[in-house]
Amino acid sequence: KAVMEKILRRRSLQLRDQQQAWKNSHEGEKMMEFRRSLPAYKEKDSILTTISHNQVVIISGETGCGKTTQIPQFILESEIESIHGADCSIICTQPRRISAMSVSERVASERGEKLGESVGYKVRLEGMKGRDTRLLFCTTGILLRRLLVDRNLKGVTHVIVDEIHERGMNEDFLLVVLKDLLARRPELRLILMSATLDAELFSSFFGGAPVLNIPGFTYTVQTHFLEEILEMTGYIMTPYNQSDDYGQEKMWKMSKQAPRKRKSQIASVVEDALRAADFVNFSPQTLESLSCWNPDCIGFNLIEYLLSNICENERPGAVLVFMTGWDDISSLKDKLQAHPILGDPSRVLLLACHGSMASSEQSLIFEEPEGVRKIVLATNIAETSITINDVVFVLDCGKAKETSYDALNNTPCLLPSWISKVSVLQRRGRAGRVRPGECYHLYPRCVDAFAEYQLPEILRTPLQSLCLQIKSLNLGSISEFLSRALQSPELLAVQNAIEYIKTIGALDENENLTILGRYLSTLPVEPKLGKMLILGAILNCLDPILTIVAGLSVRDPFLTPLDKKDLAEAAKSQFSGDYSDHLALVRAYEGWKDAERDLAGYDYCWKNFLSAQSMKAIDALRKEFISLLKDTGLVDGNTTTCNVWSYDHYLIRAVLCYGLYPGICSVVHNERSFSLKTMEDGQVLLYSNSVNARESKIPYPWLVFNEKIKVNSVFLRDSTAVSDAVLLLFGGSLSRGDVDGHLKMLGGYLEFFMEPAVAEMYQSLRRELDELIQI
Ligand code: ADP
Ligand code: MG
Repeated sequence: KAVMEKILRRRSLQLRDQQQAWKNSHEGEKMMEFRRSLPAYKEKDSILTTISHNQVVIISGETGCGKTTQIPQFILESEIESIHGADCSIICTQPRRISAMSVSERVASERGEKLGESVGYKVRLEGMKGRDTRLLFCTTGILLRRLLVDRNLKGVTHVIVDEIHERGMNEDFLLVVLKDLLARRPELRLILMSATLDAELFSSFFGGAPVLNIPGFTYTVQTHFLEEILEMTGYIMTPYNQSDDYGQEKMWKMSKQAPRKRKSQIASVVEDALRAADFVNFSPQTLESLSCWNPDCIGFNLIEYLLSNICENERPGAVLVFMTGWDDISSLKDKLQAHPILGDPSRVLLLACHGSMASSEQSLIFEEPEGVRKIVLATNIAETSITINDVVFVLDCGKAKETSYDALNNTPCLLPSWISKVSVLQRRGRAGRVRPGECYHLYPRCVDAFAEYQLPEILRTPLQSLCLQIKSLNLGSISEFLSRALQSPELLAVQNAIEYIKTIGALDENENLTILGRYLSTLPVEPKLGKMLILGAILNCLDPILTIVAGLSVRDPFLTPLDKKDLAEAAKSQFSGDYSDHLALVRAYEGWKDAERDLAGYDYCWKNFLSAQSMKAIDALRKEFISLLKDTGLVDGNTTTCNVWSYDHYLIRAVLCYGLYPGICSVVHNERSFSLKTMEDGQVLLYSNSVNARESKIPYPWLVFNEKIKVNSVFLRDSTAVSDAVLLLFGGSLSRGDVDGHLKMLGGYLEFFMEPAVAEMYQSLRRELDELIQI
């Protein structure tokens, strides 16, 4: 122990010398000058004092003021300089992997170091961390997994939870866990950081913890709403009152006053605007009917017009465009690339910024190219977690994709919805970072109708994984634990989740984890995917199952660009043949693997409308799953992913059914085609890119599906046809006690859908099976 202490002591002294040498070097001095200019730096002393005197501190400050890069660094530096030497271990969580990676790299370079020295990062599948690492940036998920094996976070001195204003489910969950931990570890420090001023909620959650606010500075941003933007294009919107039937709602009318020569250029813009403007008024409900962000409508053309206008006529400065999601970004990017100015690489650097991009793509975003206009198309990730320094122009579509959860129908929904007032300000603020900027909001001046804050994720998503996590961390009763959250989810949502994990056999009747449940909680995938991995290993058909589970955990590898939808769907149907989207994925992946061996993976993806990025991610995940399964002992230690395993599609269907149950619907054939029914929703539809959507007949009575989403109707994504026998044997859990419950449920289906005679046959089969199991 004494030797260890001596070594540690020497290392800290070395770190201290290193830190000092860097600060004295020319480059280090330049960096310090930059750091000192950040608003957070001016609060350094008061931040450090408050942290040393309080177990919990909440720090708020505008995006870009230096919270993420500076505050963990202040703690690190002061610990390194303190007399007892760098006896610290700081963990700073980020809601997204991309920010954990980019921020750690930035902090390392601010310290004149390479990543993996005193600063490191860890995200799923990737990480960089060394013996000297004292400050670790990681995703919230990584810290939660660490708590699973190390419930007291031994050795950790500071936990910093960043971006708490986003109110992600993981962060909300982590805060409850940490609150309990703080009582057990009085010397542990917790720092919460938020980009907005709603810190009171957090302060009172932690018994009145002190709140520090970093006063920010931003330049003025000139704002334009849709009304002014249309006016700029030469068309004017004037308010008028529609017939009295519509009450006092203010409607807008367009009058055409465009100068002739610009007319053709903007014709399509205005045509779209007209279509939109008839609906525009001041209530979000009616705004909803104006699908202002539908690419067929106003959005894309208007953006193209504004961007080319900025490139031609405006002062230098990067442009940041806020879009709803990845699919929008990629179709807009395609459109812009075909534009004479915007698609010209000698004039414009067109980049995309979203959560699932590769790390090599990320660094380009921060570069400041000369003589070229940088345009970044981003999701709301660029709202607070990533700061692009040279932005002067912001285009804001006003919407963001948000998952919501309809507890009553037990259905998740994914829809673009209007952003909150806070987000409007955040997005606008991005334009005034370095000099006065301009912001174009592509919706009418109706911000008052927007919600104040976004609903926290815990109130709008299914809670199954969370509930399983609560049980595996031994946190007691699920509902009791959730009732202590910052904002507790609806009772019904909690009950649905508990019901679900009981149905899949992860919890027993008394809400205790079953053996299956314990296995599931060690696998970092949704419970249903975990079940597939486990049964796949048992039935020895793991190889295709690894691909399927990995494919379901990444962004859909089958791309459907909006303008080439038919071609893309036809491309996918080449892989069909088994009435299964999951097996189509396996074929596509195998094909990619072959092509990749000949270094033609990219061409293969291009030809087949597949995402090369997703394919690579699947490859990496397969390896991770294998090593996790080895850890749990379900797979032999010598196994590699190249071992040949059964590709018997009956087995694969059985595994899919075991995992996806109770995601099941019955296939009802009529003369020319078929329709689908689930017990809860009645008629449901298939997404058009499902291979099953192209079939006229499905020679199986059931489809199991991965996900159902309510858009207007209820849609199923990724389905596989299964037989009666497979459903009977593998639907639900395999253990004795659960079979009863599951058969009861199956009985419900039978009464609901089946002919009485068929149902009776089933009943007798069930009785036989029951007896068989008893033997
Ligand atoms: P906050 O967390 O308060 O939003 P950050 O600590 O992320 O702010 O960023 C502080 C400042 O550091 C930014 O305004 C930006 O100027 C600079 N910065 C952050 N990341 C990078 C980077 N990767 N490259 C260059 N500058 C960066
Ligand atoms: Mg930050």
